[in-house]
Amino acid sequence: MSQLTSPSYVARLLRERGLGAKKGLGQNFLVDQNIVRRILESAALTGESWVLEIGPGLGALTSGLAARAAHVVAVEIDGELAAVLKEILPNPKITIVEGDALGLDWQELLAGAGWRGESLSLVANLPYYITSPLIMKALECGLPFASILVMVQKEVAERMLAAPGSKDYGVLSLAVQYYAAGSLVLKVPRTVFLPAPAVDSAVVKLEPRPPQVSAPRQELFAVIRAAFQQRRKTVRNALKALVAEWGLKLEQLDEALASCGIEPTERGENLSLEEYSKLTEELLKGV
Ligand code: SAM
Repeated sequence: MSQLTSPSYVARLLRERGLGAKKGLGQNFLVDQNIVRRILESAALTGESWVLEIGPGLGALTSGLAARAAHVVAVEIDGELAAVLKEILPNPKITIVEGDALGLDWQELLAGAGWRGESLSLVANLPYYITSPLIMKALECGLPFASILVMVQKEVAERMLAAPGSKDYGVLSLAVQYYAAGSLVLKVPRTVFLPAPAVDSAVVKLEPRPPQVSAPRQELFAVIRAAFQQRRKTVRNALKALVAEWGLKLEQLDEALASCGIEPTERGENLSLEEYSKLTEELLKGV
């Protein structure tokens, strides 16, 4: 089905159906067979794997995924594209669902298509406007994804994989680290899409694993979000409001920082996940 990634085929299909690429839905179709092949290879599927694909578009990845997996459940928000897909990919191994992937219950969708707990992967060439919430949903929804393979804007990939001290390091980097091991699979130039977007992309693989730190998740992320709310503030100043909300005195914040070996003048962007976890646990001792 390599014609699905031929620029002339995609352009003709859109023209014949009277469809345009809808910018508001992030519709930039992948038209490079080499990139498709590399994405399919890194999905590391077996004949038993199930795949949840978000935003199949005109099916650039869908049929290749179905060829390597037991079943693909593909969620497309655009009813016109979902109808075209059903027509051009009549395959019992593919279930096309029309709907908003952010709003739908994925467990229900998969169960409805016959998934009974087999190995599961998520693959998506994501529309830019839902990248962060979609990744957070994938990490937090409780489904046992063996891997989450997402094509995102290059800048988002950098934020996802950033280490402490880097300008890209932030809440998204820490959330990714909390839930998964992340790696960069592939850089993707803007020229392989039709229409070409304004930015380059990258494919990132997340392999979920149990959290490597022990602080309770909700409180840990309350501390992390507070620390990054104003990046330029010291961690001490950035956490003042949160500790007051938790009923703690400023001295208790100072003590917690000291017992974690964190200088009060340190900035949130230099602290590791382990340091945030330790700090959260120290603060919670006083609550
Ligand atoms: N997978 C195709 C490809 O690689 O050529 C299309 C990728 S395109 C960047 C993103 C796709 O996601 C579009 O088909 C768009 O209509 C769809 N989409 C946008 N928002 C969505 C949402 N909330 N839920 C499901 N699909 C969505």
